[in-house]
Amino acid sequence: QMLGYDEADIGSSTEEAMKLMHPDDFESVVEEVQLALADVLKSYVNEHRMLCKDGTWKWVLDRGMVVSRDENGKALRMIGTHTDITERKEVEKLIWHQANFDSLTGLSNRASVREFLIQEVGRCRREGGMFAVLFVDLDHFKEVNDTLGHIKGDELLIEAAQRIRRCVQDDDWASRQGGDEFTIVLARPTTVERIEAVANRLIEVLSERFTLGENQAFVSASIGITLYPNDADDVDGLFRNADQALYESKRSGRSCFSYFTPLLQESAQARMSMANDLRVALAEKQFYVAYQPIIELATGAIHKAEALVRWAHPVRGLISPADFIPIAESTGLIVEIGDWVFRQAAQQVKLWRQRYHPEFQISVNKSPVQFHQGHLIRQSWAEHLLELGLPGQALLVEITEGLLLDPRPEVIRHLRELRAHGIGASLDDFGTGYSSLSYLQKYDIDFVKIDQSFVRNLSQESKDLALCKAIVVMAHELGMKVIAEGVETELQFQMLLEAGCDYGQGYLFGRPVPADELDTLLAGPKRAAG
Ligand code: C2E
Ligand code: MG
Ligand code: MG
Repeated sequence: QMLGYDEADIGSSTEEAMKLMHPDDFESVVEEVQLALADVLKSYVNEHRMLCKDGTWKWVLDRGMVVSRDENGKALRMIGTHTDITERKEVEKLIWHQANFDSLTGLSNRASVREFLIQEVGRCRREGGMFAVLFVDLDHFKEVNDTLGHIKGDELLIEAAQRIRRCVQDDDWASRQGGDEFTIVLARPTTVERIEAVANRLIEVLSERFTLGENQAFVSASIGITLYPNDADDVDGLFRNADQALYESKRSGRSCFSYFTPLLQESAQARMSMANDLRVALAEKQFYVAYQPIIELATGAIHKAEALVRWAHPVRGLISPADFIPIAESTGLIVEIGDWVFRQAAQQVKLWRQRYHPEFQISVNKSPVQFHQGHLIRQSWAEHLLELGLPGQALLVEITEGLLLDPRPEVIRHLRELRAHGIGASLDDFGTGYSSLSYLQKYDIDFVKIDQSFVRNLSQESKDLALCKAIVVMAHELGMKVIAEGVETELQFQMLLEAGCDYGQGYLFGRPVPADELDTLLAGPKRAAG
């Protein structure tokens, strides 16, 4: 009945029943039954498939035992049960699938690649051999996701997974780690030549165009590679190494692969120890703010300065913000540090407004992390200015292009709030990123800061001069003013002035210095133009 047969359909012999068993399960059932008959097992339990009348298979749980034997011990009678466990088996299969596979791409998932590696390490420890772990991260995936939406983003991931699968062989392992990260294990025996061939192939296929419905998108791939047993002999070590190597690929411009090296290990450790030191730096008053004057080129007047944080480390001395800001960003500490810099700058601008010029303005750098985690600060910057009796115009917030390319709702709200309080915004390092002026207008940017890399190479014949001029013209048309960064020579100054640039900042006019030193410059004679 359970299998859908009528009494007349099948006989009542054991052989008849055996015929309905799935051939793959047959042997194990016979074995169990034999052991019970021979009195080796008191009872047996077995799960196997049985053929139904309609041609489908059902999973059956058999329990059985011998209940009577003759004087020689030969089994005479057996009792038992057959239970339909098909549903349970299906649920188990589903759970197993969910636990081991990524539901979006169908690749195996983080948990199962870990399991596989544990086994692979065990096998290689016994039998020798090497294998490689590759971390693959898609570059610019976030932009695709943000501009085309999550559905197209998912489509891209599915297609990327298929391309990745085609780059590896059957006994290799490709899995999705989460987000736009994939892990590949190139199983032994593997050679450096093969590893590099696969890495290059991955970069190549992932850089090809993705067609997502009527949209097209391009990404690329950064890869970190580590080898067992050369770099590490356990799974955690391999993961850590591959991650550091991946970080190195991202750092050196993306769309490339890097091997893990002991040097990477060192620099990762240095980053970690710096992160630890950063945690106490605020409490121990190791930071101070330096101010760099911003000159109005046509008049030489100084009514602006940029606040730049400085870290006087008790052992390592002065550490450049270029070295510690990225770490402060990745640990989230930048929110607190940045807030502290802002409060210092607010106090300072109040003083300089009273002492030198009623419209003195200080620029404060604000990194994207500060925008995304803005809710963590005690009080909004606008409120704090209000408390000090300062108008929003006393402050200028310097942001980078990356922030505008990733316009999350909280970022837009934040920018609008600044604007509502009269706080200006200026775009830092212009020319190093996407360099599109179109969104500047959309977000009400007041100043564009031309990056020092352009200013450095200024000469009459250089392309950079033409570029500076073009930026100035476009910025002016959009109602923005231009500040040139990194002005070091009199010649650069003259050329910028000719190009129509409004402001300049650089060693020629003054280095970033503590507030009291800038005081001296502000009190001195004004710099004349020309
Ligand atoms: P930035 O905002 O583009 O600042 C300009 C950088 O150029 C400063 O480096 C400054 O010292 C340097 N500089 C100025 N004039 C010249 C020049 O004539 N020649 C050359 N070669 N360099 C010049 P600094 O102070 O090392 O800061 C590096 C970066 O760190 C800043 O770049 C900014 O992005 C970030 N930063 C600094 N302070 C803060 C802060 O309080 N918060 C945040 N979020 N970032 C900060
Ligand atoms: Mg800046
Ligand atoms: Mg800059």
